[in-house]
Amino acid sequence: MTLDVTDLTKTYSSGDEALRGVSLSVEGNETTAMIGPSGAGKSTFIRCINRLTEPTSGTVTLDGTELTALGDDALREARGDIGMIFQEYNLVERLTVMENVLTGRLSYVSAWQAFRRSFPPEDIRRAYDILDRVGLGDMEDKRADELSGGQRQRVGIARALIQQPKILLVDEPTSSLDPETSNTVMQLLTEIAAERDIPVLINIHEVDLAVEYADRIVGLHDGELVFDGTPSELDDAGFDR
Ligand code: ADP
Ligand code: ADP
Repeated sequence: MTLDVTDLTKTYSSGDEALRGVSLSVEGNETTAMIGPSGAGKSTFIRCINRLTEPTSGTVTLDGTELTALGDDALREARGDIGMIFQEYNLVERLTVMENVLTGRLSYVSAWQAFRRSFPPEDIRRAYDILDRVGLGDMEDKRADELSGGQRQRVGIARALIQQPKILLVDEPTSSLDPETSNTVMQLLTEIAAERDIPVLINIHEVDLAVEYADRIVGLHDGELVFDGTPSELDDAGFDR
């Protein structure tokens, strides 16, 4: 699996130039952390990959398919290969853990539609396996609004995994979590990359977590890529922590 992003730009209608020509390839089962200060364009970059935000120019190619060239139907299908995990979890509060995970089987269909569907038994079996894997084995009947932040993030991860994605894109997974929970979530994400043999791209502003858990670090500043290397090369480059 390879994700190739070439010369991506995004200028919002407000005039903000969030991305000014970013090129990046990720492949294999590498965990890549994208670091950079608030406003650098990290979130815009991730959202442009599956076109939750439309890029202004540039191309995004996933496994040979140019996502930036697809029409609506083909894009919807291609999005099924991309697991997205958001900072604010985006869980449906009134649904249970199990129901929230199963909504991941229906990429971008409304959760309420999902709620009324009956799910095939193999999906339910797979959901149990994934919940076990993320450490929520006995929580399937809890409602989302009864969970702690760390548990909510694990549901978000499980929901992304049930689509059997070819890549995971993760936007600030730890920004609402305490340090210990942040570490366990980062650990889980890197383990999943290895187990599933898929690349994981994580936006994260905490440089220490990036250095500890990522194989590769890219630095974004003012919409431009300013660093690309290993954690130890980042240390040598004298980046502020
Ligand atoms: P696009 O150019 O992709 O259509 P818009 O500029 O129309 O995007 O903005 C999309 C939405 O994001 C709007 O609802 C807007 O209010 C909101 N928005 C505007 N500025 C910001 C910002 N700095 N950060 C986050 N959201 C913003
Ligand atoms: P980061 O994730 O690194 O904090 P963002 O991608 O959220 O960076 O933001 C990059 C720039 O784009 C900022 O200047 C931000 O205000 C602007 N921006 C982000 N989202 C929107 C939006 N929807 N509409 C207009 N401007 C936006």
